This record gives sequence, structure tokens and C-alpha cells, in this order.
Amino acid sequence: MALQQPDPNKDPDQNPKPPRWVGIAYVVIQWIVAFFLLLWVYNTFASGAAEEIKIPYTTFISQVKAGNVTQVQIQGDEISGDFAQAITWPQDTPGAAPIATLQTTPASDSAVTAVPTTPSANTETIQANKFITLFPAEVGDPNLLPLLEANNVLVDTAPVPTPWFTILLTDGLPILLLVLLFAYMGRNMTRGQGSIFNFSRSQVRTQTVGDHPDVTFDDVAGADEAKADLQEIVNFLRQPQQYYELGARIPRGVLLVGPPGTGKTLMARAVAGEAGVPFFHLSASEFVEMFVGVGASRVRDLFKQAKAAGAAIIFIDELDAVGRRRGAGLGAVNDEREQTLNQLLVEMDGFDERNEVILLAATNRPDVLDPALLRPGRFDRQVVVNLPDRPGREGILRIHTRKLRLADDVSLDTLARASVGMSGADLANLCNEAALVAARHGHHAVQMEDFEAALDKIMLGGERPLLLSEEDRRVIAYHEAGHAVVAWHLPHADPVHKVTIIPHGRALGVTEQLPQEDHYNVSRAYLLERLAVMLGGRTAEEIVIGDITTGAENDLVQATRLARRMVSRWGMSQIGLAAFDDDEENPFLGYEIAQGHHYSQDTAARIDQEVQTLLEERHQIARQILLEIRSQLDELVDLLLQKETVDQNQLAGILGPRPTITKESMGLSTELSL
Ligand code: ADP
Ligand code: MG
Ligand code: ZN
Repeated sequence: MALQQPDPNKDPDQNPKPPRWVGIAYVVIQWIVAFFLLLWVYNTFASGAAEEIKIPYTTFISQVKAGNVTQVQIQGDEISGDFAQAITWPQDTPGAAPIATLQTTPASDSAVTAVPTTPSANTETIQANKFITLFPAEVGDPNLLPLLEANNVLVDTAPVPTPWFTILLTDGLPILLLVLLFAYMGRNMTRGQGSIFNFSRSQVRTQTVGDHPDVTFDDVAGADEAKADLQEIVNFLRQPQQYYELGARIPRGVLLVGPPGTGKTLMARAVAGEAGVPFFHLSASEFVEMFVGVGASRVRDLFKQAKAAGAAIIFIDELDAVGRRRGAGLGAVNDEREQTLNQLLVEMDGFDERNEVILLAATNRPDVLDPALLRPGRFDRQVVVNLPDRPGREGILRIHTRKLRLADDVSLDTLARASVGMSGADLANLCNEAALVAARHGHHAVQMEDFEAALDKIMLGGERPLLLSEEDRRVIAYHEAGHAVVAWHLPHADPVHKVTIIPHGRALGVTEQLPQEDHYNVSRAYLLERLAVMLGGRTAEEIVIGDITTGAENDLVQATRLARRMVSRWGMSQIGLAAFDDDEENPFLGYEIAQGHHYSQDTAARIDQEVQTLLEERHQIARQILLEIRSQLDELVDLLLQKETVDQNQLAGILGPRPTITKESMGLSTELSL
């Protein structure tokens, strides 16, 4: 059956075509409307053209003098007005003619034709009772007004009308833009997913499509356990069949947990790179938009695209931005976040058994995540990515120095020891910073000293040139030497690496200690000595200067915080084992306020008392050390004032060998009886 053929049985009246005359009438009406519009436009812009003539200024003046002008209107440099009696135009000799009476004289016509300079020689003459002329603005005519007055001409002025295109630009353009905007919004609304501007789809698309990372596990150093955990995912993505045959269920949601800069994003990309599948990356903070519903629609889009790709990795960075415990927080409207989170949960549950889409997410706050996210079937596997240990740091440094030209004296091992506590991102930054320093110094390869300078800059902040008085420098030198001497003579304290009185960042001087090995679990003896070292600077000021300065402010803040934690969290005082403060940071205030503190006023007072005691005892120990070896202190200060920076070897020259950890030294550290 031919679909195009009209159905012969169909009643033609059921679908009546408009008769022909309707169409014709329609066209005629259109033309009539257009005609009247044109007429109107013509009238508006060319009104009065019929009886108004354009005359030279001189003609105008002579007409005034002849008393033939009753009134004028001055608009800018345009003068228009009425004649008392209509004149014939063109005249024979413009300007010189006497006027009203000449209008019908045939001679004037012939005369006009005889004058070759008159441009309108051939035009017919008209009777005009209105005129328009241009005022010679450049020359000016001071006599005009007196003349008009003398001849009893009514003078009127009017503002210059704004040209029509100016009106269009000033008033019309904004309206035009508004109209366009509304049209645009309307169009998007009709095909959007409930969002006004429909960014959701476009952004996901531009950011995530077809990203095949070329990063592999070789580009990630350290983090060996994390890599081993993720290897399983890689194997599954490579050979899913093998897993299906065994009937194994592979985890679909893997949460990478670790401090910022430890390579979580990098690791997720490496998984996709190893498995050779597309990588869809979205930061959770991008989900949370101004408009409710956008986030949820983005989640939907993202999963749809990933599923369409077959096997894929979806990576959601900073999951805590959407995945926080629902119902927490004070006041703020959490609708958008919760909707997004709910959509995420729905999508995760909707994972097809036969769909090789793995969801990776990263966070540094797993504790604040909504429990619903962590239950089995969702993010039920956590991979911890910790700060790198010493060998890990060396590996990361090796990766990031691959592209640098290194001098022979660079020891990555030493750098790895010196960069305790730095993350992968910090180390990458260190390598780059060192290369920049080398370039600044004109070295043709990056040298160890460049790395040292970069390390100082990152750890301490850049050097700050300050003009200090001699007395200030002496106080700073004693302060720093005090830290250094106390640290040197306490066996558990981290060895002093260097002392400097060059201001860095916000510090006026720095005593740098470097741990031999990374600390994972610190002892009470170590912490007590650390308190003494912190107080050493201030104690030296007391002893030598006889006064105290504000320079120790930060030391005191740090020491007090440490002492308080020892008392109230780690059970390291006579108060006993109870941990009173379990979490200092308040990730979301509302939740915390609801919890409140878990101890009485009485206990609070005792904690304060213990903190005081702890600090005062350490102060006495530092004082004792400094008084005993005052000569060494003075010697170190002299060297500091002279050289500004003193390194470990020079320190050893002045202070002698460091004490080893013995029973007595233990006694010194832990004399506070438990
Ligand atoms: P995170 O996502 O955990 O905050 P990133 O993955 O964004 O950290 O790391 C930032 C950069 O730091 C990476 O691009 C990489 O150059 C470097 N980096 C971090 N960790 C490592 C590592 N383990 N090995 C090599 N480079 C690393
Ligand atoms: Mg990241
Ligand atoms: Zn200090």
C-alpha cells in the first residue's frame, strides 16, 4: 500500500482545505497593511515636505528684512518658519528679490532659466509658505536675533531631536538582547531536563568524552599496597569473562582515601590507563550547582555516557563535596547536595551485572561520608593512599626528575630523607622549583644546592629581606640557638639539620630538625623532649637577654596545643587514660554542636592544670640545659651572627657529639612520674 496516496474513502469535509479566496484575501490584507505602514513611515519622516522649501540663509535674511517672516523655530543650526505670504520658489535671483509680489510674475521664471548657476533651473515652481534654512554655524551671525526682533518675528527654539539610530541603540538594543535571551532560554527549556540553562549535559560532555589516559602504574611511585588493591580492578577490566565464568562479583565502587596530593587522581587515571578503558572524570564540587536538580541530572548523564562506552572508569573527585552525611549541617539548604547524592546512590544500585563500569572516587574525609555510600554494593572497598614513606619519596623524586638534567652531586636519597611529610604533589613541586632555581642561577644542570634552596622555600617560605637592628639580630640568634642547643642535647629529639637567622616567610629565624626515620607512632619520651625544644627559644631569651619578646608566640601556641593533646587525647598525664577530645576539627559544625563535650567542668579545669604543669616542667629542663652549657650557646650565637646559617657539621663542631639514648636520658625525659 502506498502511504502517500490520499484515502479515497475519506470525507473531504473532515479535513477541509481553506478555499482559494481566503488565501488571496490574506495576501491583499498583508499588502494593505504594508502600504499603510509605509505611508505612516513616510509621513513621520518627511512630513511637511510638500509646502516647505529649503532656502539659502541670505534669502532667509532678506525675507526677514522684507517683513515676510512671521515666526521661526530654531533647532540646532536648522531654522524653519512661516512666511507671511507664500512665495514662489525657485526665484530668479535668490536673496536679492523683493518678494511676495514677485511670486506670480512670469518674468521671474524666464530670469531663473537664464541664470546658469541656479541648480533647480528646470524644476517647476511651487508656492511655499513654509521654509527651512541652515544657520551658518561656523561663521555665526550676531545680528540675527536683533534683526528678527526688529521685524517682529516670533522666535521659538526646540531641542535637537535624537537621530533615530541613536534611539534604536540606546533604547532598542537592551530590549533586543532581552528578547534574544528569552528566546534562547525558552528553546533550552523545551529540550532541557528541567534545568534552565541545561549546562549539565554540555559540561559533562566536553570534560569527559573519550579520555584514554596514557598514565600507567609505572608513573605512580610508593603506594604499593594501593596499587596491589587496584590491580584486581585492572585485571577485571581486561578480562571480565574470566570473572564472570567463576561467578565472582567484582566491587563496583572503590573509594580512594588519603591526604591531598598523595596521587589519588593520578592513581585513578593509571587504572584506566592500565586497563585501556575510557576515563570519565568529574569533580563532585562541580555537581553542586546553583539550580536544584542540575547535579542529579549530571550524575545521570555521566553514568549514561559511561555505560554507552561499555567498559569504563568513572572517577568522582572530592566525593565528600556531595557525599556528606545527609541531614547534617546548620541551616544551609542541602537540597541540591542530597538530590545529587540520592541520584548517585540510585545509579550505583542500577549497575548492570554485565556492565564493566567501575566507579572510583577520592576523598580525604572518609569520616564525613554518608553511611549509605559505604554500605556493601556501593563504595564497599576502600583503598588507602598514604603520604609516601622514605623509599616512596625517593621513587616519586625519581619519576619527577626523569625529565630534568641533573648534576652528579644530586642525591635523591638525601632529598627523600629531608622531605619528611611531603606528599607526591609537594615532591613534584619541589623538583620543578629546583629546576627554576637552577635556571635563575644560570646552572646548566640542576644541582643539589638548587634542591636545597627549593626545599627551604617550600618548607619555610621564601627568604624575606628585612632590615634588622643589631640588637634584634642578637635576640633572634639567641632564640634559635636556644632551640638548637636544647634539641642537640636531648637524645630523643630529632637531630638539628640547620639553624638560620635569615627571615623566611613569617619566621624571623628557623631551626630545622629532621627526623632520622619517619615517625608513625611517637612515644611520650619523644613528645616531652619536643616540648622542651619548643620552649628552648623562649628560655634562652629569658636567660641571656633578661627580658622576653613576642618572637616566641608561635612556639608557645604549638607547645600548648601539643601538651593539651598529650593530656586530653593520648592519656599521657596523671589524669589517666580517658580521651576527652576525640576530634578537634569540625567538618560540619551542626553535627559537632549536637554532640557537645564529653567531660565535666571539673575535668576541664584539671586538664588545664595538667597542661600548665607539663609546660612548666619542660621549661625547667630547657633552662637547666642552657644554663649548664652557656658557653656553647654563646659560641653558637657568635657563629650565627657572623654566618647567618649554621649547618649540622658546624653545630657538631661547637656542641660536640649528641647524647645516645640511655637509661639516664630516659630518666631526664620521663621524670614526670606516672
Ligand atoms: P590527589 O588527587 O591525591 O590530591 P594528585 O593525584 O592530584 O593528588 O597528585 C598531584 C600530582 O602529584 C600528580 O599529578 C603527580 O604529579 C604528583 N604525584 C602525587 N603522588 C604521586 C606518586 N605516588 N607518584 C608520582 N607522582 C605523584
Ligand atoms: Mg585529586
Ligand atoms: Zn622559636
